[in-house]
Amino acid sequence: MENIGYFDGHNDVLLKLFFSKSKNIVEDFFEGNNYCHIDYKKIQTANFVGGFFAIFPPNLGQDFSNLSSKKEKKERYDFPLPEPISFERAKNTTDKMISILNQIIDKSKGKIVLCKNSTDFKLARTNNQVAIILHIEGAEAIDKDFLSLDKLYEVGLRSIGLVWSRSNIFAHGVPFSFPRSPDTGPGLTPIGKELIKICDEKKILIDLSHLNEKGFWDVANLSSRPLIATHSNSHQLCQHSRNLTNTQLKAIKESKGIVGINFATGFLRPDGQMDPNTSLDIIIAHCDYLINFLGEEGVAIGSDFDGAVIPSTIKDLSGINVLIEHFLSKEYGIELVKKIFFKNWLNFLEKNL
Ligand SMILES: [Zn+2]
Repeated sequence: MENIGYFDGHNDVLLKLFFSKSKNIVEDFFEGNNYCHIDYKKIQTANFVGGFFAIFPPNLGQDFSNLSSKKEKKERYDFPLPEPISFERAKNTTDKMISILNQIIDKSKGKIVLCKNSTDFKLARTNNQVAIILHIEGAEAIDKDFLSLDKLYEVGLRSIGLVWSRSNIFAHGVPFSFPRSPDTGPGLTPIGKELIKICDEKKILIDLSHLNEKGFWDVANLSSRPLIATHSNSHQLCQHSRNLTNTQLKAIKESKGIVGINFATGFLRPDGQMDPNTSLDIIIAHCDYLINFLGEEGVAIGSDFDGAVIPSTIKDLSGINVLIEHFLSKEYGIELVKKIFFKNWLNFLEKNL
């Protein structure tokens, strides 16, 4: 099969590397390993053209190094929101993950680049470089006076999820609950609303995945830019609080935004279970559903590689080709598959970065 290319709306490989016990995490990344869903060898196998690389500041004691052991077997679940984390902890862990990313970029000798604007992005495409957009998942490393935001912007931050599934000074995330509506709490705080205005001015993208429904509508009302949910699915098909309702999908469509389909099985399956033994047909079902609301330009992928239990048939980034073949076998034409797997994100970022 033609190796068509892939751009990913969300991955947590920097978090995974941050948790690695190895002394040579950057070398491991280049040599390939079984520990991460994404590494340099898999980047080549998958013809990976780039992606949003998330920095997620974890709670103390949180460990994401072995996700497949976290199988959820209860029919219904409602995990409480993890405790808020301090600015100091967030800043410290964020700095470490930025340092890992910079070491990877340095060692790549021009094969991987950080893109800070659409010109960088277009150039990376022309030069066949892997284009990275720096994203933070949970804005705890930004202080209430936004002083640290300027520094993060300088080092390349161009996408912010105000919250992970946790509360902070800006907003409130949704808990990991099934079945449950995303309407789980209050909207943005006054500082959160201020942050949206600053992001619009600086052309920093706002990611709506993880935000609760009232927060979603606050962003929709305040921001003049397209709405994006980098890694979320349809709430109609999987009633997890992390997924998007039909009304939210309509608002994203109206704003000319994008939804990235998340491979996390707990957000895909109608029974909400985190089970790697999950058919790829459910990804097709979410894609069909999302295209109905968003059109062919509004649907892309946000894998959640290295941050979630994903179907074992995909396994890791190198399995993206298996999924592409599955789409082609289900009467998705090659042009539409290209849009979903990379073109839609590329067009969006060329316009909006
Ligand atoms: Zn996430």
